[in-house]
Order: sequence, then structure tokens, then C-alpha cells
Amino acid sequence: MLLWRSDSIAVWRNEEVRRRLSHYYKVMKGERNAKYRVVKRFPVDFSDDMTVEELMSLHSEMRREFDEFYEEKMERELTDNIPHGNFLELKIRIVKLLVRECKLCEWRCGARRLEGERGVCGLDSKVRVSTAFLHMGEEAPLVPSGTIFFTGCSFKCVFCQNYDISTNPFNGIETDPYSTALE
Ligand code: SF4
Repeated sequence: MLLWRSDSIAVWRNEEVRRRLSHYYKVMKGERNAKYRVVKRFPVDFSDDMTVEELMSLHSEMRREFDEFYEEKMERELTDNIPHGNFLELKIRIVKLLVRECKLCEWRCGARRLEGERGVCGLDSKVRVSTAFLHMGEEAPLVPSGTIFFTGCSFKCVFCQNYDISTNPFNGIETDPYSTALE
């Protein structure tokens, strides 16, 4: 049985909430494109022989240009034309390079995760999900929230409310990005 939260609908009758969360509200109503849909339509020219530093510097530069591109595409119908060499691919390329001797978080522990080594976070190259569900317990404008709890964490908070999954990366089901997106 799905329990509904009546305040998650009532909250949008409040003009101040609608004003302050106007972007989110428009995306939710389908009047604006979410950024993740626009990011892969933004062409970026880069090559596989570029270093991670070069790619990151390009990324900073492109971020500013992307803001303008997004402004322009925000409320337009998007075409199926995805350029080869785009902002999303640039981000993926950077992540793939950073994870080789992992520097994905501030620990920068250098674990060779793709070769099976586990970092300070306890993670190797596999992604595991503990639970995925519609979260009904967030603040009213965020209900329901599509929530995915991945296992493992690079923080070491003493009072972690998800201790069982944050400190045990194996406490979940192995998945991959494609299946996660589909499910
Ligand atoms: S703690 Fe984990 S995410 Fe952070 S750098 Fe090490 S392996 Fe990467």
C-alpha cells in the first residue's frame, strides 16, 4: 500500500513556495527541461589523449558556457540530436581517469579500484545498492523522492543513521549504471 502525503500537494498552493522553488516547480510540471537532459546535448570537443588536468580545466571553462546554453534550451523542445563529444561524455571521461588511482573524494587515497583494491570508503570497482524506493519522509515539496541508497561511504560519521550500509559496502546488491537507470 502506498501512503500519500496530502501536504506534498497542498504545499504547491503556497505562492511563496512556488516563487522560491520556481525552477524545480517548472521542471516538475514539464515546463522546463531538467539539466541532465540538456547536458548531453551541449557539444564539447576533447580527445582521449588529454590529461585529467587538461580535461578538468576544459570542464571549468565549459561550465560557464553551459549556463548560457541551458538558458537558451531550458524551455525549448529538445531534439534527438546528441553530438558525439558532449558535456556529459567529458564528465564521464574525467571520472574514469580519476578512479584509476582513486581521487574521487577528498581522501584521495589512490586505491586502484578498477583492479579490485578497496579504498578508505571500502569500495572497489563494483556498485551495490541497498534499497531503492519512493521516499515519503522528506520535506513536503520533495515528496515523493526517488531514493537510491548505495552502499559504502567515504565519510566516517560517528552517529551515521545508515551505519549498516555505509560501513559495509557488501551489504547490497551489485548493479551497473544501465540497470540502475532502468529500474
Ligand atoms: S575513499 Fe573511496 S572515493 Fe575516496 S578516494 Fe578513496 S577510493 Fe576514492
